Amino acid sequence: MTDFDVVVVGAGRAGTAAAYRLAQENVDVALVDRARQPGMKNVTGGVLYGEVLADLVPEFPEEAPLGRHVVEHNVQMLHDDASIGVSYRDPAIREEPNYTVQLGEFDRWFVRKAEEQGATFVPETTVRGVEQREGHAVVATDRDGGDITCNAVVGADGVNTTVGRTTGIRDPVQPENVGLSVKQVIELDRKTIDERFNLRSGEGTAYIFAGFPEGAPSVGYFIYTFESTISVGAVGNMATLQTYGDQGYDGQGTPLYDLLTRFKELDAVRPLVRGGVAQEYQGILVPEFGYDDLPNRHEGRVCLVGDAAGLVLNKGFTFRGLDFGVESGIRAAEAAMQCRKRGNWNAFGERYDALLGDSYVMDELRQHSRLPSFLENERLYEAYPAVARETLKQTFSSEGDASGLTWKHALTALRRQDVGVRDLLADGWRAFRSV
Ligand SMILES: Cc1cc2nc3c(=O)[nH]c(=O)nc-3n(C[C@H](O)[C@H](O)[C@H](O)COP(=O)(O)OP(=O)(O)OC[C@H]3O[C@@H](n4cnc5c(N)ncnc54)[C@H](O)[C@@H]3O)c2cc1C
Repeated sequence: MTDFDVVVVGAGRAGTAAAYRLAQENVDVALVDRARQPGMKNVTGGVLYGEVLADLVPEFPEEAPLGRHVVEHNVQMLHDDASIGVSYRDPAIREEPNYTVQLGEFDRWFVRKAEEQGATFVPETTVRGVEQREGHAVVATDRDGGDITCNAVVGADGVNTTVGRTTGIRDPVQPENVGLSVKQVIELDRKTIDERFNLRSGEGTAYIFAGFPEGAPSVGYFIYTFESTISVGAVGNMATLQTYGDQGYDGQGTPLYDLLTRFKELDAVRPLVRGGVAQEYQGILVPEFGYDDLPNRHEGRVCLVGDAAGLVLNKGFTFRGLDFGVESGIRAAEAAMQCRKRGNWNAFGERYDALLGDSYVMDELRQHSRLPSFLENERLYEAYPAVARETLKQTFSSEGDASGLTWKHALTALRRQDVGVRDLLADGWRAFRSV
């Protein structure tokens, strides 16, 4: 007889979704987290694409502590102090349950919902390791006599997953496969945010920026609006940050917080953050795998979900990790329910993987399998923004030479950046195949 049917390690959204779904079906489930309160140290940008959560908890848009309803997306390419952008606002996306969220409040609410369904939440308990034995699994914790026995374990313990490492399912993350992120929460009053970002009350917008500093691939920035704060942050691939720049940690890399400070001073950004007071500073790692190098995510009675399984997609203009976590947690719960019904828990990990393989999460990752290598192309961050800037300058400037055919200006600019028409066509084709 085990203590629980299933132990879920980590009460982020991935783990809590698994616990919620299991408790809903009367499966005996423990949800263990190292934090005193759920979400205390959890970090995102970010926009929750809420459709999958709305299927699981239909009352979430009315009940959950949410930021703003996202009705607009902006993508800005930077070049020196110039910016070129695309803005998308459409009444159709107002129908979608996509909201900005701060995890401190959100995770607390979500765990309470799982408890209402019957899950047992075990706070302030750090999991040290997981061992698979004949007929059961043991979750070792930092509590005296705190080993928990169960039939299956869901590792939802984030990017550095203790569950994944101690079971040998995953190796420690490598710099190429992880991004470092720093984020500031900046206080601005609600009216200022509405006016500055052209929003009605409760509406929110998301900004993604790339191209700064010139020629640095894999470094991006974001601004998300909340009720009376904005989140401003930077994400950079670890391997890129280690090698890029002439200052930084022991002369080996560029500190990301320094890039974030300089980013906020740019001509395109300063008016958006002006007058704000920094409330919080947060930092975290975020998985950056492509579909083809996703890590293993199961073994026997153990499976990994959310960031622990590397299930994040950075499309360059959106991040998907929050909803991927929820979906993978639900799939883990479904696998556990099937194993319980059949009385065979040994196949839990495999069952989960098969169910996840049929989900939109893997579809999306598969469809974008070429995207990570496409986004490493330095021309995207240096030559093309320069070409676009020069062409637009020739088009809009009132100076004497700002006349003539736009395509001729573009060709001249391409030549100046040492980009041939063949490069342009090849990159265009790669872009098409990546998205
Ligand atoms: C800057 C940034 C911006 C982002 N923006 C977006 C966005 O706009 N949209 C989007 O969809 N995604 C976004 N993401 C990705 C998204 O935030 C993550 O994919 C998601 O939060 C992962 O959720 P999770 O539940 O898997 O893990 P986590 O949220 O990391 O939760 C892990 C939990 O496990 C607990 N834990 C860890 N180790 C142990 C242990 N040993 N014992 C017990 N408990 C443990 C932790 O306390 C935590 O509660 C962003 C990420 C970053 C960093």
